[in-house]
This record gives sequence, C-alpha cells and structure tokens, in this order.
Amino acid sequence: MNVSERVALVTGGSRGIGKAIVFALAKAGAKVAFVYQSNQEAADQIVTDLTSQGHEVYAIKADVSQKSEADAAIENVVSKWGRLDILVNNAGIIRDKLVLAMSAEEWHEVINTNLSSVFNFCQAAIRPMMSNRFGRIVNMSSVAADFSNPGQANYAASKAGIEGFSRCLATEYAKRGITVNCVAPGFIETDMTVAVVNAAGDKVKNSIPVKRLGKPEDIANAVLFLASEESSYITGQVLKVDGGLTLGGMG
Ligand code: NAP
Repeated sequence: MNVSERVALVTGGSRGIGKAIVFALAKAGAKVAFVYQSNQEAADQIVTDLTSQGHEVYAIKADVSQKSEADAAIENVVSKWGRLDILVNNAGIIRDKLVLAMSAEEWHEVINTNLSSVFNFCQAAIRPMMSNRFGRIVNMSSVAADFSNPGQANYAASKAGIEGFSRCLATEYAKRGITVNCVAPGFIETDMTVAVVNAAGDKVKNSIPVKRLGKPEDIANAVLFLASEESSYITGQVLKVDGGLTLGGMG
C-alpha cells in the first residue's frame, strides 16, 4: 500500500486501534501526527518507539469534541509538514446505559466525542486536502451502527451518524480527489471491550465465525488500504472488519 511521504493525522492514537493505525501508517512510510486526550505517558512512548526507528511521528493533546481544538490540531500539522493527505477519525468512547437510565450528559458526551468530532476534523481537513487535490478520510464506525444492542443507543446513533455523514461528504468532494470511507470493526481486543469480553467469556468468541476476537492490527490493515493510493476508486463505503460477525449465519 503506497502512503510513502504522505502526511497523516490519526485521532485517538495513544491506545488500542488508533495506536495500531499510527504504527501501520508510519511503518508504511507516512509522516504521522496523532491526537490523544489524557494518556500522555502512552502517547510519549509511541513517539519514542517510532522516532527511534527513524519514523516521523508526533503527538498532539486535544479534545476531539471541541471544534477549536480540532481546527488547531489540523493547523498544527499543516504548518509543520506543509500539507495533510490522510485523516483517520478514530477517537471514540462508550457510556452504555438503557435509555431510561441515560443522563443527557452521557448522551451528549458520546455524540460529541464520536460524531461531532468527525465533523470537526473533516471540516478543518477538507481545505488543505482540496489544495493538493488529494485526500483520504477514514472514519471509524462500528458494527454497532447496524445492531440493536440494549444499552448502546447513544453509541449506535453516533456510529450510524458517522456512516451517513461520510456518504454525504464523499459525494461533496469526490471530484477533488478526496475519498471518504468508514471502517466498521466487530469485537477488537482493546481497553474498550475488555469488560464485555471478561464478563461474557467464550460466548463472544464463539459468536464470531472466525472464532477469535479481532486484533487492533486487523483494523489498521484495512485503514492502511483505504488511506493508500490504491483505494482511489472506493468512496462512501463502509468496510466491516468483524471476522464474519455480521453475516448472520448459525456459527
Ligand atoms: P480505546 O482503546 O478506548 O482508545 C480510545 C482512544 O480515543 C484513546 O487514544 C483516547 O485517548 C482517545 N480519546 C477518547 N476520547 C477522546 C477525546 N475526547 N479527545 C481525544 N481523544 C480521545 O478505544 P478502541 O477500542 O481502540 O476504539 C477506537 C475506535 O474504534 C473507537 O471509535 C471505537 O468506537 C471503535 N470501535 C472499537 C471496537 C472495539 O471492539 N474495540 C469495535 C468497534 C468500533 P487517551 O488515551 O488519551 O484516553
């Protein structure tokens, strides 16, 4: 996959899936900036590991739900490296509750962090991408966008919103050389899923046709493809990376 010399920004790059995406893009030759919220130690370690291997990587502390912080992060990258080619909107959270128990704050926190952040970063990224007539935007959805999981109304709404937003954005900027796609992971082993997986034991693994949880690298490989030159004829799509979880078979 050719991303050599491309400039990339990944949100939520300090842990889990985002960290694997930062590594995949950097190792494939891109210059990578990544956003984290609070986990500075993890962010510093990634920068140390990758720069010591000769890769160009740095971290930006920002809250993706804040428009001004998204604008500043994109400006920071463009002023440092002169361009922005690849944007991966990966940062996300869960605050699972049944609707009657869900506070307005839990609703807004998930919608703002998962969905409004995608608007915040895409809007700021479009101009620099248009001026190069090249852009790759990959937004992190989830199989939960299509599921009806009790307790995930806020999360499912945010992810379904990301998919709708991405389709519209794809049509608006396709003629400018900018593609916009989503990746929808199934169950991936990260901090986000550890509690569910521990509680459900082998039930989760057994519900997946390939009989294993996904690794962050499984998602990073799909993102790398959608961020590369080679994916130029794919836009407005949702790529499920879920080991067959959504195929609906009998196992
Ligand atoms: P994770 O391990 O919990 O990591 C979340 C990342 O997002 C961290 O880097 C965190 O930064 C960052 N973040 C959270 N809120 C932020 C904010 N307001 N501003 C800036 N950064 C913020 O999550 P993950 O499992 O890797 O999930 C990554 C994405 O994949 C999410 O969008 C999630 O919805 C999606 N996804 C995950 C799964 C799964 O099975 N894991 C399945 C489907 C979809 P700090 O380290 O500083 O806290």
